[in-house]
Amino acid sequence: MAQYDVIVIGSGPGGYVAAIRCAQLGLKTACVEGRETLGGTCLNVGCIPSKALLHASHQLHEAEHNFAKMGLKGKSPSVDWKQMLAYKDDVISQNTKGIEFLFKKNKIDWLKGWGSIPEAGKVKVGDDVHDAKNIIVASGSEASSLPGIEIDEKVVVTSTGALELPKIPKKMIVIGAGVIGLELGSVYSRLGTEVEVIEFLDAITPGMDGEVQKTFQKLLQKQGLKFTMGAAVQSVDASKSKAKVTYKLRKDDSEHTMDADVVLVSTGRRPYTDGLGLDALGIEMSQRGQIKTDSHWQTNVKGIYAIGDCIDGPMLAHKAEDEGMACAEVIAGKAGHVNYGVIPGVIYTHPEVANVGQTEEQLKEAGRNYKVGKFSFMGNGRAKANFAADGFVKILADKDTDRILGAHIIGPMAGDLIHEICVAMEFGASAEDLALTCHAHPTYSEAVREAALACGDGAIHM
Ligand code: FAD
Repeated sequence: MAQYDVIVIGSGPGGYVAAIRCAQLGLKTACVEGRETLGGTCLNVGCIPSKALLHASHQLHEAEHNFAKMGLKGKSPSVDWKQMLAYKDDVISQNTKGIEFLFKKNKIDWLKGWGSIPEAGKVKVGDDVHDAKNIIVASGSEASSLPGIEIDEKVVVTSTGALELPKIPKKMIVIGAGVIGLELGSVYSRLGTEVEVIEFLDAITPGMDGEVQKTFQKLLQKQGLKFTMGAAVQSVDASKSKAKVTYKLRKDDSEHTMDADVVLVSTGRRPYTDGLGLDALGIEMSQRGQIKTDSHWQTNVKGIYAIGDCIDGPMLAHKAEDEGMACAEVIAGKAGHVNYGVIPGVIYTHPEVANVGQTEEQLKEAGRNYKVGKFSFMGNGRAKANFAADGFVKILADKDTDRILGAHIIGPMAGDLIHEICVAMEFGASAEDLALTCHAHPTYSEAVREAALACGDGAIHM
């Protein structure tokens, strides 16, 4: 069988990026993928399809709520769900085929099938055993559920089922107010579904800046999403035509039930490492089922590396990609590096939510001397013109040195705006550096500059 410098197991954003970078660095590379198409969770059932449905449903929302205000009259569009799903599938196909093209271009062999590692230096796919000087495990993650809940991907669904429901449900219960639940909840809410979110904690999107959490929940409520907070789901009964969710309120332990046509279980994801044979190899795992690695993504077995959702850290496509590139560079003898302090997080609802670095709560807890510069999109001309003035930019900077420590944006294009702050943080910039940078008018980016100005002598348009 063929001999490779590197075999990557899994073709998600971690795996395919690692494979491409390995090939670019002159290493003979193969990538094993068990799915029919390349691209992993992200391209097939994650980032890309969810963003396609968010885009389509947002267009409907704009037509229904804002077109007439701008003098665009006429019949509001109606929803052809089958076509919307076909559009989403087409977007997936364009993206997965794009990876196939990049593999061919970079002369990467796609070993089709499920791979395992019988011993260090060998990867088995079907009956074939291939030699590999280095192996990168990028096997990703799968949706996790709660005890008492059986997923059938029809009535009780994970995000995968929610991306291809046969019809738009009248009522949907979303269990878990994290990123995936709120994005998909928004999609269905815009399409006319009554969406009720049940969350165990008292705030949505755990770990996010508290001020953003509150504003975000209010804006989602204004859009029609309902929330039951501090509620522990006990069970979901889907034996009848409707699902019945039983939950207990944490404040008084009282038990309640709620009915829905579809229940979306979005309570997080867990690493997926089934069938790889890691146990037999003696590869160390964390209690949460993540593969343990050193700072160069190498496991305790020499020549076997791991990256992406199956190791520690935020389960994000761009984190997996960065690790893929850096791990390839380490294998090629270069200095691969990932700055885990500057990994942005984005929620693609409307408005979008984005963050990087530390939250105000974390700074308080660390006893850090910090200052806050905040600017509302109400003071941004472009946002007002585009009916997108909800939200704000908040920059946190060190009180003594002015160095930017974190940023939190809720507002239009937040997921794009955050990157100038990421770049600034990578360069160790101060809030004043951002404030002194000329920003084109009229752009949403001016709100970032104004927040930076607010860290100093004050914003102009507030
Ligand atoms: P994955 O993308 O999970 O890929 C792993 C691949 O490995 C899979 O294709 C699997 O089939 C394959 N595999 C596993 N084991 C084997 C084996 N033994 N042999 C062969 N193949 C194997 N992240 C963002 O950053 N932005 C977003 O907007 C976003 N939206 C999301 C929306 C949803 C609905 C979901 C579910 C996730 C979303 N994510 C998002 C998270 C993102 O998809 C993951 O963080 C990312 O895909 C992780 O990449 P990965 O390469 O580690 O693994």
